[in-house]
Amino acid sequence: MTNWETIIGLEIHAQLNTESKIFCGCSTRFGDEPNSNTCPVCLGLPGALPVLNWRAVELGARAALALGLNINYRSIFARKNYFYPDLPKGYQISQYDQPFSANGVLEIMTADRDEAGHAHNWRPMTINVTRLHLEEDAGKNVHEGLPDVDRYSYVDLNRAGTPLAEIVTEPDFRTSWQAYDYVNHVRRALQWVGASEADMEKGNLRCEANVSVRRIGDPFGTKVELKNLNSVRFMQRAIEFEVERHIKTLESGGRLVQETRLWDEKLTETRPMRSKEEAQEYRYFPEPDLPPLVVTEDFIVEVRDALPELPGPRAKRFAESYGLSFSDAAQLTAERSLADYYESAVEASGNARGAANWIRSELSRELENAGLTADKSPIPAAELGALVRLIDEDKISGKQGKDVLVEMFATGKSAVAVVGERGVVQVSDTGEIDRVIDEVVAASPQQLEQYRAGKEALFGFFVGQVMKLSKGKANPKVVNERLKEKLK
Ligand SMILES: [Zn+2]
Repeated sequence: MTNWETIIGLEIHAQLNTESKIFCGCSTRFGDEPNSNTCPVCLGLPGALPVLNWRAVELGARAALALGLNINYRSIFARKNYFYPDLPKGYQISQYDQPFSANGVLEIMTADRDEAGHAHNWRPMTINVTRLHLEEDAGKNVHEGLPDVDRYSYVDLNRAGTPLAEIVTEPDFRTSWQAYDYVNHVRRALQWVGASEADMEKGNLRCEANVSVRRIGDPFGTKVELKNLNSVRFMQRAIEFEVERHIKTLESGGRLVQETRLWDEKLTETRPMRSKEEAQEYRYFPEPDLPPLVVTEDFIVEVRDALPELPGPRAKRFAESYGLSFSDAAQLTAERSLADYYESAVEASGNARGAANWIRSELSRELENAGLTADKSPIPAAELGALVRLIDEDKISGKQGKDVLVEMFATGKSAVAVVGERGVVQVSDTGEIDRVIDEVVAASPQQLEQYRAGKEALFGFFVGQVMKLSKGKANPKVVNERLKEKLK
């Protein structure tokens, strides 16, 4: 299989985070009574005219800039004609030859994966993002959970007219994991700038992959479009399956057809859906009911200036100014709220690495178990910083710190309060530790003799006895130092 090359291009549809639809005032709320959020415009009734929701343009602009695209001053809405029961107008208002934004250059980080799927060897990769355009979503056909579904299909048009950003890349990906890393990058970037919730489970981020293989040096092979990819992981698995299927087919002398295939997660395989329509079958033409979409340079500058520091640059800055590894910095910038939390904790603790370690391990585990994001943490960043400081000042040990953190998380109490109540303050006073050591040494004359005769492994025995007698409160660092001195 070594002389085969995989070619992957991706299309993402992200629902823009507006309160109302893109061409009418209907709500975009999810989960309402079917067909309750509809009006003559999104029902496609004759004579109803669309009016562009400017909020969708603003969020589209945020998304475009966050993904390195250039916004066009003038773009055109176009009708994409096709028949489907969830599309009452018989066409979708989209953009075609003059999209809202184009020619993006996006740097992502990608990694190799070992057998268990663990990432290693993170490195930057440049992706050419062909375009991001604005369009409306279609409604939904419902085939489940309603009376007589064996005989009838139902149509819910609450989703019809919801604003989408369609983001298309060049066929730049060579492995399924690169595609995986890209979709995660886009998802995080859209959430980061508030353009979209980008939640694949809720269906407000959907992706499709165009996959083909070729022998290295050959022209592009036959392309298959993969749909029904309901998570980033499913997408990665579907691409793997498809690549293998292509190579097997071609190596056994078979032929591939250009088609759309659906991923079946239960059977872990793809199956054909329909043969691919050619672009011209949509008979695109400019939407006569909407003027060209015109934005000014001032508008673009305003949107750009309002963007927060993006995750890529922020991870880089964390790595450089706080001395973190790339994977630690990446983990701390997985979400904007976590990155904000980290920076506040650094300020409160004065220890960038210590704060990073405590957040990445102990705090993240508690947050995950509770299903919370960092901004909802019962331990405020300043208090996590206070905990790190108590450890740095040797007031408590790292081990004690773990228990203190768990209690702070459960009760919302401050670090100092928990430490005070539990009496867990660490003993670093050498006089007090010396007294305990003397007691231990006096009680273990045999061990002392053996140790002094060269049985150095017994050092651990003494440490253990001292820790036991001090009920775990003695500072292990001081115990080690003092014991070395005393056992000489
Ligand atoms: Zn409407």
